[in-house]
Amino acid sequence: MRALHPKLQALQAQLAPSPLQRLQDEVFSNHGVECWIKRDDLLHPVISGNKWRKLKAILDEALRIGTDTVVSMGGAHSNHLHALAYAGKCLGLKTMAYVRGERPGTLNPTLRDLLAWDMELRFVSRSVYRELRNYKAHDSLPDLRAGQYWLPEGGATELALKGVAEIVREIDIDYDVLAVACGTGTTLAGLIAVLPAKTYALGFAALKGGGFLNDDVERLLMGLPVERREWQILLDYHFGGFGKTPPALLDFIRQFQSRHAVALEPIYTGKMFYGLYDLVQKGHFRAGQRIVALHTGGLQGNRS
Ligand SMILES: *Cc1c(COP(=O)(O)O)cnc(C)c1O
Repeated sequence: MRALHPKLQALQAQLAPSPLQRLQDEVFSNHGVECWIKRDDLLHPVISGNKWRKLKAILDEALRIGTDTVVSMGGAHSNHLHALAYAGKCLGLKTMAYVRGERPGTLNPTLRDLLAWDMELRFVSRSVYRELRNYKAHDSLPDLRAGQYWLPEGGATELALKGVAEIVREIDIDYDVLAVACGTGTTLAGLIAVLPAKTYALGFAALKGGGFLNDDVERLLMGLPVERREWQILLDYHFGGFGKTPPALLDFIRQFQSRHAVALEPIYTGKMFYGLYDLVQKGHFRAGQRIVALHTGGLQGNRS
């Protein structure tokens, strides 16, 4: 990869390492499997986890082509918008976002941060929001003016895959399974694109009815020379859907946190680890297999 734009290098210098740690747990040892956790949650207090990975090459391109404003979309608790607004502020790029639903009377901590970082917010109806999902390329949004760069929901573009690939390059052990939570499936696609031989990727859909993810991941991988594509998305660990927080899930997250001193959130990483534990207990993995689970961060969403 060529050198990052100097402004991005300055932002990258704020990052902490993302260590790979062994998760010691009887549940794993009883079934003869090993589980490791790749701590992308530690990368940065704001641009945590996969959001930095996805934004890196995108913002690099945006800066190189003379962008002044990045325009994107997301929900009111969006980790993507949170990371984008902060990065924009650091890079001297203006940011604007279409936010799903009506402007709430009281702004949640995520929205307050977005405004504090000077992101311009436009609240749109669910139908307008859905319509915006049709625009994929950075110049495809109608009425974009010169200098504006369109970034689809969740940063789901082929460029995002480049930064995600660095996660795989950093994992310096042999492993059989790479587990990740899926929202748009972009992170999963980026991992699949560079998986080592013999390793397969296991995605856990955060949304209910996530079957569309299979097509979206295929679409993202289409332009890439990926020969071996072993991956699967599990659709049944959504716990009622995006943003739902049933007690069983919250209990699991609390237990996980007290046992491992690693915080999870209920939208993505809580569901993935719940799913992993469940699969291990059901004998899904062969004895001797080694699993690496990606902690994609997102803990800012826990504030509300
Ligand atoms: C955004 C996010 C995801 C989903 O990433 P996709 O690339 O959209 O699939 C997973 N985990 C966390 C913590 C996130 O914030």
